[in-house]
This record gives sequence, structure tokens and C-alpha cells, in this order.
Amino acid sequence: MSFDLKSLLRPHIAGLKPYSSARDEYAGKEGIFLDANENPYGSTAPGNFNRYPDPYQIEIKEKLAEIKKVKPDQVFLGNGSDEAIDLLLRAFCNPGKDNMIILPPTYGMYEVSASINDVEIKRVPLSEDFQLQPRKILEAVNDFTKVIFICSPNNPTGNLMKKKDIYQVLENFNGIVVVDEAYIDFAPEVSMVAELEKYPNLVVIQTFSKAWGLAALRIGMGFASTQIISILNLIKPPYNISGLTQEKVLEALSLPNAVYGMVGKIMEGKNELVRKLEEMDEVIQVYHSDANFVLVKIPQAKEIYHYLIEEKIIIRDRSKVTLCEDCLRISVGTPEENEAFLTAFASYTKPTTK
Ligand SMILES: *Cc1c(COP(=O)(O)O)cnc(C)c1O
Repeated sequence: MSFDLKSLLRPHIAGLKPYSSARDEYAGKEGIFLDANENPYGSTAPGNFNRYPDPYQIEIKEKLAEIKKVKPDQVFLGNGSDEAIDLLLRAFCNPGKDNMIILPPTYGMYEVSASINDVEIKRVPLSEDFQLQPRKILEAVNDFTKVIFICSPNNPTGNLMKKKDIYQVLENFNGIVVVDEAYIDFAPEVSMVAELEKYPNLVVIQTFSKAWGLAALRIGMGFASTQIISILNLIKPPYNISGLTQEKVLEALSLPNAVYGMVGKIMEGKNELVRKLEEMDEVIQVYHSDANFVLVKIPQAKEIYHYLIEEKIIIRDRSKVTLCEDCLRISVGTPEENEAFLTAFASYTKPTTK
């Protein structure tokens, strides 16, 4: 494999000069700050928010680097992991010319981000058992293919992708391979972050939105080589993670065991939910899930979805999605929420007319 980051980049990005913010030019904490036109008296809302936040979120990255066993400059933080997805396309894909590969059924944001950036999408569906088809993926690659998105555990199917298939793609593609691990904290396997040294073309994406319970803060993580991370830092908006978010994430990281406790409870809830769904006669299949949601195949999925909405129980209708005909996706809630869902689900009776 000959991976050359410089030649993969869009030419104008390779020559870009970064915007230098006031906080870039002087990073010290002590002093009289008259450089950023801030309000010296404080904030009009409770809390200390009158100063611009650290543009590179160093404290968070140092903590994360320890937890994830990487260097701090191998970590990127974005306004949700969706920002990292968007920045990767902006760095590597020339609009109207380059393409990227997605593996449906998968997370919808890759496609949205590609469309916004005018990047052509090539689709290589997963196999019937929702696994990668590495040979077909590599056959779909042409000179203009810059990025391949692999989601593992995959949304909406819930399963992990086989590592040997991911390696096969990484080893035979000279562009960027993004492995989206939004649900990795729920999965029984270790993160691909451990493979970063081996694969210079690997970008791993994780998020604080799921297991960590911080979706409203909008913060996601990207892990890659220091070279790739420095490119993302170059093109991101200067203050993309708010001071309030940084404060709260640091609090969360100082109690890293809280996430394990919650994940444990969610997994217990999932096992119970799966067991009860499997007992239902109407259910055709409950797919294996390595995440905090389950995909269920059932006749009249769309009708059930609408019926449940009337009962104020909101799940996700995936019945129109590739390979997911008649499928519903259900997030694992608290035991009470799961029970309410199951009761309403069981009370749905097929209309007898027509
Ligand atoms: C939920 C989810 C994300 C997280 O997005 P954020 O912008 O970090 O909230 C990323 N990827 C997948 C596959 C997801 O399901």
C-alpha cells in the first residue's frame, strides 16, 4: 500500500494558512487579557463565560489521550462527531469530482454530508447478514475515491463488522477509511483506535452522545495520525467546542467509571428487551445487537410505528431502508420505558379489513 496524505488532500487545503485567533497567539493563562474584545466584568448568565474557550481543548485531549492510549495530538474534538465527518469530506473530496463509498444500510449523516459538499456517493450494500463485502468495496474504488465510511457497530443494524474485513479494506485502499464507533462502548470488542499506529489511513470516530449521555453538549471525537488531526484542526471553526461543553466534558472525564455503570444497566435492559421480543409470535427476527438499540423485523412495521406514535412511544421506522424491509429500530430505554413499549407493541392488533 502506498498511502500519501499530501497527494490525497485537496490542493488548496494543502496550502492553507490557518486563522490565528487571539487565543492562538498567546496561550498562557496568567495576564491581563485585552486582546479579544471580551467583557472584563463577567457574564450576564450565571457562570464564567466571558472569555473565549481553548480552541484546541487541550485539557480534554490530555485526559482522553490517557484513557484511549494515544497522544493528545492524535485527538480531534468536534461539535458532535458529525462535524468530524463533514471536515473529512471538506479536506479530501473535491466537490463535483471526487467520490466516497458508503455501505448501506448505514448511518444517514454520511450521505447528507456528502450531498451538502457535492461529493458523489458510491453504495456497496452490506451482505444479507449485515457484514462488509471487502472485495466488492475495493472493486468500487476508482481514482476519485477518497473516503470509505464503515460504521461498527453499525447503525441501524446494531452489529459489529468483522475486524479482518476492516483490515482488508484498510490494507488495500490508498484513501481514508473512517471507522465510526459511535456505539463501541456497548460492544464486546476493543476499539480500532488500537490500530492507528499500523494504519496511517485510518480515522476512528467516537462520540459523547450515546454511552456518555452527553448528546445535548454536542461533542464528538476523532482519532487518527497527528498529520490527519492537524489538517482537521486547520479547517475547523476556531472555537468549535463551547466553554460550557468543555467544562461539562471535563467533569464527565473525571468520573470515567460512571459510563460503565450506565452501560451495564443499558445492556441488562437490552437483554431483557430482546428476550421479550423474541417471545412474540408476530416478530420475524430480532437481529443481534452490539449496540444500545435493536433492529426487529415484523410485518406491518410502518403501521406499528404510526400506532406507537399515537401511544406517545417513538421508535424509528427503518422499513424503507436497504436490506431492512419491515424493520423497526428500538433504542433501549429504562426498564419502565422498555416495558411501556412492549405493552403497547403487544397491544397492536392488525386491522381486519382489507
Ligand atoms: C449517533 C451517531 C453518531 C453521533 O453523532 P454526534 O454528532 O456525535 O451526536 C455518529 N455516528 C453514528 C453511526 C451514530 O449513530
